[in-house]
Amino acid sequence: MSIKVNENYQNLEQNYLFKTIAQKVNAYTELHPDKKIIRLGIGDVTLPLTNKVIEALHAAVDEMGHQETFKGYGNEQGYDFAIDAVMKHYQSYGVTLNKKEVFISDGAKSDCGNITDIFGDNEILIPDPVYPVYLDSNIMCGRKINFIQASQENNFLPMPNEVEKKSYIIYICSPNNPTGAVYSKDQLKQWVDFANETESVIIFDSAYEAYIHGDYPHSIFEIEGSRTCAIEICSLSKTAGFTGTRMGWTIVPIELVCSGTALNPMWNRRQSTKFNGTAYIIQKAGEAALSPDGFKECKEHIAYYMENAKLLSDLLNKKGIWHTGGISSPYIWLKCPNNMSSWEFFDYLLNELQIVGTPGCGFGQQGEGYFRLTAFGSRESTLEAIERLEKAL
Ligand SMILES: *Cc1c(COP(=O)(O)O)cnc(C)c1O
Repeated sequence: MSIKVNENYQNLEQNYLFKTIAQKVNAYTELHPDKKIIRLGIGDVTLPLTNKVIEALHAAVDEMGHQETFKGYGNEQGYDFAIDAVMKHYQSYGVTLNKKEVFISDGAKSDCGNITDIFGDNEILIPDPVYPVYLDSNIMCGRKINFIQASQENNFLPMPNEVEKKSYIIYICSPNNPTGAVYSKDQLKQWVDFANETESVIIFDSAYEAYIHGDYPHSIFEIEGSRTCAIEICSLSKTAGFTGTRMGWTIVPIELVCSGTALNPMWNRRQSTKFNGTAYIIQKAGEAALSPDGFKECKEHIAYYMENAKLLSDLLNKKGIWHTGGISSPYIWLKCPNNMSSWEFFDYLLNELQIVGTPGCGFGQQGEGYFRLTAFGSRESTLEAIERLEKAL
């Protein structure tokens, strides 16, 4: 065969994490069909869409069924009403955006993966541990990847003074998945200054911004100097329970220029060529989620998850188990007790307590010895898990 394939794909590590979890859980349930398993490993929301969103979806579906209001192709960049809704949302954080800077998409994962299209062969800087998409999407295009280590010593918030000064594409996820760690304004300013000084570009993933509690930046564009060095990617997946509904956005500032080329028109060209827009119906739903009343409903759902997080965190405090997160993110990141490895603790929780979580080592080498619990379960199952942990730990 003379057709060449993208051989970079051969450099991807098999992602055994969720497969192995499923295999272990299946093996356990086969042996113990009577035992009730509680899942605190999922990185997915569980509450249904809110009322405002459902109303908007129904209304938009009806519009599609009438000649006068039917919609075909829309702008690849998104409808004005959706862009306005995103701009108003940023305005509530004191960030003013230009309409041309907002690109509505079908979610943050696609944009995280697609953004590599507009960059050449740069060095990449990725925190460890983190959401695996940044790593794999850059392996797929053969980039040189540098890790920056997050650890208990730096509160899982690595800083630029730990990094050799050169130009990179820098990925930052704050609040972080899986650790829940959040950068302060001052810390993000140090990253922005580093990026401007080294002519780097920050890709800022703010998927969990709506979970922030306290005085932390929700957007990189709250930081002075960020408009010349940062792109932001966000979505309604965790904010509004849109994991199965699909709407996100990417912000590319007009001032962002690399080697004399502005990135905003490049991203515009990329999207216009390879993407045909997010469904009208979904953009109407997204507009509703971001409206003042809609967002209030979203915040109620988030408050429900965060109460779960607090209950889990209280229990871990009581047991003297080191952990972070759970305050500005739905994830609790804990140190496995008795120096167990991530998988040892996984097996222990599954076999002894029938609780399923996520081994930290699945998010990077620095995650070994740690474990992620999520607050996305129901109150009932979270309380039952706490009761089991209370007795055992
Ligand atoms: C869940 C998640 C996303 C959201 O991805 P979507 O494609 O919008 O569902 C993005 N980044 C991180 C870090 C996440 O955990």
